[in-house]
Amino acid sequence: MVAEAAAAVAATSMPVITVKNLTKVYKMGEHEVRALRGVSLEIEHGEFVAVTGPSGSGKSTFMHIAGCLDRPTSGEYVLDGKDVSKTSKDELARVRSEKIGFVFQGFNLLTRTTALDNVELPLLYRSKNGFKSAERHKRAMASLEAVGLGERYHHMPNQLSGGQQQRVAIARALVNEPSMILADEPTGNLDTRTSIEVMGIFQRLNKERGITVLLITHEMDIAEYGTRLIRFRDGRIVADQAVLHRRNAADELAALPPPEPDQIPPPAATEAATAH
Ligand code: ADP
Ligand code: MG
Repeated sequence: MVAEAAAAVAATSMPVITVKNLTKVYKMGEHEVRALRGVSLEIEHGEFVAVTGPSGSGKSTFMHIAGCLDRPTSGEYVLDGKDVSKTSKDELARVRSEKIGFVFQGFNLLTRTTALDNVELPLLYRSKNGFKSAERHKRAMASLEAVGLGERYHHMPNQLSGGQQQRVAIARALVNEPSMILADEPTGNLDTRTSIEVMGIFQRLNKERGITVLLITHEMDIAEYGTRLIRFRDGRIVADQAVLHRRNAADELAALPPPEPDQIPPPAATEAATAH
């Protein structure tokens, strides 16, 4: 019993990500782009890491490798104790579907498919130990409810606002119960209030479920919702520090005035209508 508990502690104190001297070179004909030039870092379970840096600094390249969507040119990547830098593409895909949920700037939802079916999609890829249809529905509904969209499960993406579409994408990222969520500029297409709402969901999932969050953003005010800030420049890490004054999305939302309903005409139109 004690040995079991000790083993559990050892397992959870192992970093979720360890990368050593990671490089990535893109070959463009005769031209080479060195997108990562030797990146080393560790990320522990339950951290909320914001990766920031100017455009072209290697953030997305890093996320693609961290998310097992691509392999490094050289260097080591250990994910949850498993060296994935040299595994086959099939094995990489399996690790990805079991451990990682993705959220992108452009939501990446299937347009002619309901919210529920979009969220169920990752479950369909688990062919070997797949779930029956009723179980998939149940899990997808639970995911939609976790992001506050249970009542809109039958809506198509074009019947949902940008913020709601991003919440569907977060539900889809959650449905396989990943240990880590990777989000690349998730608020890039959203207004201020909706951005805070989305960051509130990430903060809640991180705190309540212990999901590790790796958030990529070039906006400093969004990065401040994290616990740790890593800055990239020219394919290297140039800063890695704790966030001193962390923002709390739930508190900020509570302090905002209620959202204005869309039906109210803009003030200019009202003035014109009462002018004569
Ligand atoms: P960021 O996300 O910080 O804007 P990226 O990782 O997208 O940076 O890009 C880093 C560098 O690698 C840039 O110079 C970019 O043009 C280049 N790059 C990114 N993806 C590719 C690709 N698939 N093929 C060729 N070059 C790429
Ligand atoms: Mg990018």
